[in-house]
Amino acid sequence: MRQLTYGGVPIPGLNDLVRTAIRLHPAPGEPRPDESHFGGPLLWPSDEPWPECPVTWPPDPDASDDAWAGGHPLEGPVPVMVSAAQFFRDDFPELPFPEGTDVLQILFCPLEHDSPHHSAPAVRLVWRDSGEVGDIADPPPAPEEAQADFLPVPCVFEPCSIDELPRLCDFPPETRAALGIPEGASDDPEGWPELDHYSKIGGWTAWYATGRHELGCRECGAELRQTISLATEEHEVGCGCEVAEDEPAGWSFHRRGALNIFTCPADVTHPFKVRVD
Ligand SMILES: [Zn+2]
Ligand SMILES: [Zn+2]
Ligand SMILES: [Zn+2]
Repeated sequence: MRQLTYGGVPIPGLNDLVRTAIRLHPAPGEPRPDESHFGGPLLWPSDEPWPECPVTWPPDPDASDDAWAGGHPLEGPVPVMVSAAQFFRDDFPELPFPEGTDVLQILFCPLEHDSPHHSAPAVRLVWRDSGEVGDIADPPPAPEEAQADFLPVPCVFEPCSIDELPRLCDFPPETRAALGIPEGASDDPEGWPELDHYSKIGGWTAWYATGRHELGCRECGAELRQTISLATEEHEVGCGCEVAEDEPAGWSFHRRGALNIFTCPADVTHPFKVRVD
């Protein structure tokens, strides 16, 4: 990327803000359990129980760290989860796979859950070693009360990479100071490149309705990092690749937002957070 300037003046450190995201470009398809996908069959061992929603009462330590208001009472039946996404390290080495793992599986509880930050499906992340999976489980049917909005059509990816700059609310304090941006300002600097909604790995958060808020790691205090974005709409941007048209996965998060998953840069197994924006 070119040397970034602000008001015509090169600002030291501005180029360091660029993050390269992997845009997923989902398209309906028929993925196999050993492929990366949205909503397709998971490489889940038949001898491992199919996961249930972690947003329960009392709380389950596997639930995302989102200050959930309540949860499924443990004395009643807890809904089973559905496949939301699967990413293999061979396809997406950019993901922070813990040692000994080579596939990330994302599951949803396809019901609305309320936190002070958003309403969203509950999310479970499973980092797995694909080499340890023998027979593959048959997934149970989605819970009867599932919201159709949270059930993706199976999609495969045609990924490309795209350089992104953060929205103002994600600027580090020293950059704000160097640019002379007043305390409390929330509009992006004039002429700043837009950050649109599309499904991706890495990059910056395309904040629209809210902003960065309470995204510290519960375990170690590090600022959590935008890791995966699942978008309701795949906006057209000049990513410069050959993919002509995107077809969204058919899910819809609060007001056509994106479901963003934030993980700890120090240790990806620390509690993660979810924000729909
Ligand atoms: Zn649930
Ligand atoms: Zn941490
Ligand atoms: Zn592209």
